[in-house]
Amino acid sequence: MKTILQIAITGPFRQTFDYISHTQPPIGSRVKVPFGNREVIGVVISHSDKSLYSEQLKPIIQVIDKATAIPKELLDLIQWTSQYYHHPIGDCFKTALPNHLFTQQTLKVISKTYWQYNQPTSSIRYSQKQQIIIDHLKEKKTVLQSELYQRFNINKAVLKQLEKKGSLISIQNPYLPYYSNKTDNLIPPNSQQKACIDTVLANKNQFLPYLLYGITGSGKTNLYLHLSKEIVKQKQILILIPEIGLIQQMLTIFQNHYGYQYRLFSYHSGMTDRERTHTWLAVKSGDADIIIGTRSAVFLPFKQLGLIVVDEEHDSAYKQQDSLRYHAKHIALIRARKHRIPIVLGSATPSLDSYYRVKDKQYHLLSLTQRATGALLPKVQLIDNPAARRHPSGLSHALYQAIKETLNKGEQVILFINQRGYAPIVICQQCQWQGVCPDCDTRLIFHQKKYQLKCHHCGYTQPMLKQCPQCHSDKLNHYGLGTQQIEENLQHYFPEHILLRIDRDSTQKVNAFKAITQQIHTGKPAILVGTQMLTKGHDFHHVTLVGVVEADQGLFSPDFQMIEALAQLITQVIGRAGRGQKPGKVYIQTEQIEHPFWQLIFKDYLTIAEQLLMEREVTKMPPVSHFAILHARSRKPQLALQVLSKIAEKLQQTERTLAILGPAPAVMEKKAGYYRAQLLFMTEERRQLHQTLDNHMQWIDDLCRQQRLKWAIDIDPINLLS
Ligand code: ADP
Ligand code: ZN
Ligand code: ZN
Repeated sequence: MKTILQIAITGPFRQTFDYISHTQPPIGSRVKVPFGNREVIGVVISHSDKSLYSEQLKPIIQVIDKATAIPKELLDLIQWTSQYYHHPIGDCFKTALPNHLFTQQTLKVISKTYWQYNQPTSSIRYSQKQQIIIDHLKEKKTVLQSELYQRFNINKAVLKQLEKKGSLISIQNPYLPYYSNKTDNLIPPNSQQKACIDTVLANKNQFLPYLLYGITGSGKTNLYLHLSKEIVKQKQILILIPEIGLIQQMLTIFQNHYGYQYRLFSYHSGMTDRERTHTWLAVKSGDADIIIGTRSAVFLPFKQLGLIVVDEEHDSAYKQQDSLRYHAKHIALIRARKHRIPIVLGSATPSLDSYYRVKDKQYHLLSLTQRATGALLPKVQLIDNPAARRHPSGLSHALYQAIKETLNKGEQVILFINQRGYAPIVICQQCQWQGVCPDCDTRLIFHQKKYQLKCHHCGYTQPMLKQCPQCHSDKLNHYGLGTQQIEENLQHYFPEHILLRIDRDSTQKVNAFKAITQQIHTGKPAILVGTQMLTKGHDFHHVTLVGVVEADQGLFSPDFQMIEALAQLITQVIGRAGRGQKPGKVYIQTEQIEHPFWQLIFKDYLTIAEQLLMEREVTKMPPVSHFAILHARSRKPQLALQVLSKIAEKLQQTERTLAILGPAPAVMEKKAGYYRAQLLFMTEERRQLHQTLDNHMQWIDDLCRQQRLKWAIDIDPINLLS
């Protein structure tokens, strides 16, 4: 008997491919098939006895897995994702799974080396370093070799020596649970936390989405720990985190509280594909109990999922901005429904989307309205027109004085500025020439340390110019403040204090972020200068002053969603002050003190959300309605606009009920050498929009291909201007 197999192959393919087989490899298993003049690995999606294709079908070459490699639930999820985001199925598989699965290797787990303490028969003298290692292993019982390397900065020889003395033994095992003598040391929940925990646990075998609104420092993490502890006894836990930089912190928290009794894994794009495959298999076999990961972890093959937590649920990093533009929160909700489990979306600044769903009774609201340590929220003060009365450091006098006082008291300062580099504007005084990127419609940013001009959009760099390229004058000036300049200026005024910069340039190296946070946690007086990276989820107890150096730019964005992002950002920045014993203060410098936005931020965030939502209701913008954007780009000027016009015209003829706006050039029309345009669809009936896109996808795809236009569709875009 011959069977026809529908097979998904990774690549930009919108369809699956049919092959013949004489056996019936199970759905979700991997097979090797001929494809063009190559042999590739595909995944069996379904069996059938007839094919829609008329041409001669080719037989498969080999079945790689005897059993299902990819569980049915995950297969369905990937197919659903492809449909919802109107993205090629072949590319969805590629995004959702580790690459290793598309090699011919069988999926087998790699053993890792662990070390354990072993009571030696005779007494042994240890060096100081050896003693520290021994003590650590006595406490932790079993530790991964690579962890020992990292923690103690040692190599294998050190461990081998101790093994020879009979004090340590090594074991090979794929996934060893972390055992420890330690029992858990969870902080007992306070009454607000307890109420939330009880609510979730009362219905832990049902699909129920919760929006956890907990102000900054209210102990959302403590809540995740207590919930996980109850549920992990029977099922797996997924904790989603927006940034790789925050994973280690969360892992440590889980480990310190009870992690050594459970098998804790992480999953993110900073891992090698091999490491990711390792976690993938552990999740599938049920050997992983708790997984802490970034957005792609939402596609792990859970055996039995019991709880999903999406921490900092408002964070835009959950939405992938290229290729498959999925929102991990959305996928997480789909999964929670499928597994019939609770999902907790936590934030001090909930997205309007989630808050809208609370009001619509789709989500249940949990609130933590007080800081768990008893600390008060900081006092916020606006500083009018800092440019007029500026201290030579580049900051206002008031902010400068406050920094000085704070450091003198032995406390720490955070300065927030949404501009990395040294200065954002380079201009010739003689002829007004400005440094702009040759490949993008944007300014080049001056980076002092490397003495370069950089484009922050495409990565273009060139050495800083000595002369104006237009008039050859040497009067090239730079204006505006970036993180590097503030760092440099303050170094001059506060040479005796620690100065740390946190932005994408300073944290590029692995562990750089960790090294910086370790310094902060020492509690010594310090100034931290940074971009929004600094504002995310950190619990620094010694910061008592926060200064917002520049945030006005965000007030004038043509994207209505940016005001929401700014409100979240400022609220989060404010929340970094006074989290410990001592109360905090916040200074915000603005040249737009009359702007109504600055009155808004003094309010409780749900009140802010309420007000922003009212505006969306009036203007019928998302989340009240739904958007999709068709992006197109070409190296030929005008082409993207022309083709999108054609598409718009044709759609308008047939789809009279759908609002089609544009096409319009992208706000930054030229980026990385491409001229870009977009077409916006707006609807109050989500289903209708998807139906339309389904109906027209094929010819749009054909047309764009014919015109050699790169295109993409963004469903529920969170950034209208990208
Ligand atoms: P959030 O994530 O809501 O900003 P965290 O979870 O970082 O807040 O908690 C803030 C601080 O409060 C942490 O230092 C944490 O240890 C402490 N904390 C949390 N829950 C409690 C509690 N029930 N009692 C005392 N301290 C708590
Ligand atoms: Zn010039
Ligand atoms: Zn550029």
